Amino acid sequence: MKVQEPKRLRLATLPTPLVRLERLERELGGGRVWLKRDDMTGLELSGNKVRKLEFVVAEAVADGCDTLVTEGTCQSNHCRATAAVCAKLGLQAVLLIRPQPPDEPRGNHLLDVLFGAQVRCYNREVFDSGREGIVEDVLAELKSAGRKPRWIPMGASEPMGCWGYIRAMAELAGQLRELGIDACDVIMPVSSGGTYAGALLGALLHELSGLRLWGVPVSDDVAFHVREIGDLCRRTVERFTLPITFTDSSMRFIDGYVGDGYAVPYAAATDAIGLLARTEGIVFDPVYTAKAFCALLDGVRDGRLGRDAPVVFIHTGGVFSNFS
Ligand SMILES: *Cc1c(COP(=O)(O)O)cnc(C)c1O
Repeated sequence: MKVQEPKRLRLATLPTPLVRLERLERELGGGRVWLKRDDMTGLELSGNKVRKLEFVVAEAVADGCDTLVTEGTCQSNHCRATAAVCAKLGLQAVLLIRPQPPDEPRGNHLLDVLFGAQVRCYNREVFDSGREGIVEDVLAELKSAGRKPRWIPMGASEPMGCWGYIRAMAELAGQLRELGIDACDVIMPVSSGGTYAGALLGALLHELSGLRLWGVPVSDDVAFHVREIGDLCRRTVERFTLPITFTDSSMRFIDGYVGDGYAVPYAAATDAIGLLARTEGIVFDPVYTAKAFCALLDGVRDGRLGRDAPVVFIHTGGVFSNFS
């Protein structure tokens, strides 16, 4: 790599395993399918968000911040990971959550409470229409109370957070090289976009032309992601003067797996959770990985994926949502 990686905190358990799903392959009747187990970045810190937070929180701590403020739904994996990092480092987490969670905390929200995060709840419409003002007010209030807050956007999908998956691509490429795999398709869920943006930039930066990266949207349409992820990639290239040429044509999406909306389940996704659990003893989450894995299953079943080249799925975590 021709560019200096920013400072990072070692929060995740790395490298995560890359495993072949042989029993699943037999059940599917062919195809070579690998799973990059980023659900194993930690227990409390499980999933993709901790890779981004390693860089974002390193910057916050270096700047002398004592409070991390972020946002998400009440089952946000990102909020839970931020709360766990704060507990570990002695920082205060302030989570702006919507909508109002049920009285009895469950899943990720239960963990937010256990980790000692300050949880502030908002009505969804009120939050979405007044986001900027609400965030400004919270930061101003914390400052006037003598705290030094650092705002982290949804999913830690900001230029500094992209380094998590820039780095993860080097890790994955090393594992593939050892296995003698020089070309493959890599599939991952996409929502706030920092994971896919980081992966794209990482593949360009590390010159991994054998990796074809596919994002599977689970919340918004492709036009939205082309705009948002394109913008995030360009901001990251600019902030860190990355010696690469990013264009919109670097992005590849597999559309059609959102269903009726973000976190709204559908039968094929529920079946995918059961299939992986039964054949491999591995658990997906219902919001991100189960839906994105449906794209892989369809591709393997109709021969587009896993035949000419192996296919790697990034298990981005989210297990606690099964208990919400
Ligand atoms: C946040 C999240 C994603 C999506 O990653 P983005 O970087 O927000 O696109 C995928 N899977 C899980 C389990 C997540 O928590």
